[in-house]
Amino acid sequence: MPDDAQYRPALKSDSSAQRMAILFVALVVVSLIVLDVWQTLTARAQAMHVSEITTSNLARSLAQHAEDTIKQSDTVLLGLIERIQVDGTAPAEVQRLRNLMQGWTRSMEQLQGLFIYDSQGRWVASSNLADPPGINNADREYFRFHQDNPDPGVHVGPVIRSRSTNALVIPVSRRLSSADGKFAGVVLATLKVEYFNQFYAGFDLDERGVIALLLNDGTILLRRPFDENVIGSSMAKGRIFSEMLPQSSHGTLMQRSLVDDVERMYSYQALRNYPLVLETAESKASLLANWYENLLRSAVFVLVVGIALGLCAMTLIRQIRHGLRTEAELRNAHAALQKLAMQDGLTGLANRRQLDAALPDEIGRARRNARPLGVIMLDIDHFKRFNDLYGHPAGDECIKAVGQAVLSCVGRSGDLVVRYGGEEILVLLPESDEAGAWQVAEKVLLAVRALAIAHAGSDLGIVTISAGVHVWRNSDPDVRAQSLVEAADQALYRAKSSGRNRVYPLQPLVV
Ligand code: GH3
Ligand code: MG
Ligand code: MG
Repeated sequence: MPDDAQYRPALKSDSSAQRMAILFVALVVVSLIVLDVWQTLTARAQAMHVSEITTSNLARSLAQHAEDTIKQSDTVLLGLIERIQVDGTAPAEVQRLRNLMQGWTRSMEQLQGLFIYDSQGRWVASSNLADPPGINNADREYFRFHQDNPDPGVHVGPVIRSRSTNALVIPVSRRLSSADGKFAGVVLATLKVEYFNQFYAGFDLDERGVIALLLNDGTILLRRPFDENVIGSSMAKGRIFSEMLPQSSHGTLMQRSLVDDVERMYSYQALRNYPLVLETAESKASLLANWYENLLRSAVFVLVVGIALGLCAMTLIRQIRHGLRTEAELRNAHAALQKLAMQDGLTGLANRRQLDAALPDEIGRARRNARPLGVIMLDIDHFKRFNDLYGHPAGDECIKAVGQAVLSCVGRSGDLVVRYGGEEILVLLPESDEAGAWQVAEKVLLAVRALAIAHAGSDLGIVTISAGVHVWRNSDPDVRAQSLVEAADQALYRAKSSGRNRVYPLQPLVV
């Protein structure tokens, strides 16, 4: 099994690939959201803008309509004043006036009636077929206004209930003055609130849309949706009347209604010649209805795409992780195979292949650094006999034990113990001089003896070895790997021929 150290690089690139994938998906999702939010905000501003245009256009045209409607009635009042001043109010003239007033009232849809009051508020004449007897209109707001105000201009008052028909009407009036300028009475045209209601009802507004006609002090004359209780309430505190109207004759703003607390886009337009203001409004809920729908749709889209991307990223990460793990396992397996290929199967020591690979490197390094390179070749004494006496498997065990004993005698990291042949072991000792190599060889000799493996065919009765030592120095020119081994082998031969169970050098080296 692969160890941790070999897995670590795989895990590292694993997590960085994972980070990259997550970063990529996060980037795409964030871009999507930013785009979506941007598009959504633009669409919202666009919807607001369209509503501003729609409501202000409507306000403008309805203000013109109100203007024309009042102007028509006002023209009648001016005509009446003319006649009264020229012809007076003798009974015969009054009868003529009454006929005239009835004719005008019939011909103008918006007119509820026309009236003439004297300076005391008594009825002089009206468009009614029969005037109610004994009624006095001196208490009316318009009457008192003209009584106190010498201005000959037109006056539009708050909505009142007609004393003759009981209908809700808007009073439009002018002052009658005597030749010396004294107050002589009032001429009045009453406009039907119902006329405006019906006219405004014909427009296609949203459910909570508003059309309202107000006096310029903020008093409501009429309002769609119609509610009698709202008539006469004051909008003076609203922003349109307190802030905007003093600055401009028309404008638009989003605000909550003082009447019903609904948030709307309001546009207002002041009438040019009369003290009136027309308002139209579209509810925010209605003007943003489509926008909300699109918002929901695009939010769902972004969510779905985000989830899909997330799933793709997860699959990608899983595949990357799987690929990297497989690669690491292959690498580990390869390393293990390579190690096996460099190892001796019986003893676990390095094999000849590893020695062949290492020796030229060690020679090169020793030469570059001008350092010695020690080699020991050792061989078990009378091993043929051991096999004959104890059998081949026991021989194998013996070789293994000797191998371990050799290993226990070399300590430095560069040292290499190689099973060179059957029961021959080569020890490569970089940086070791003669004394050092000799010391190691002696140590091995003693270590094997210390194993005390019984060997009846040996001189000591236990397994012993012989060892040849050779140290290569930089002064030896052109040394080849093979000659180094051969030199150690020759030293071993000398040890064997001198009686075994000993260490022998070979000096000098023959190249
Ligand atoms: P000497 O003291 O001169 O070395 O005598 P020797 O009998 O040990 O002679 P040599 O080293 O030439 O003998 C090698 C013998 O080692 C030959 C073979 O029977 C035995 N041998 C070689 N490889 C193995 C092995 O893997 N297992 C076993 N059990 N014996 C082996
Ligand atoms: Mg031998
Ligand atoms: Mg041998």
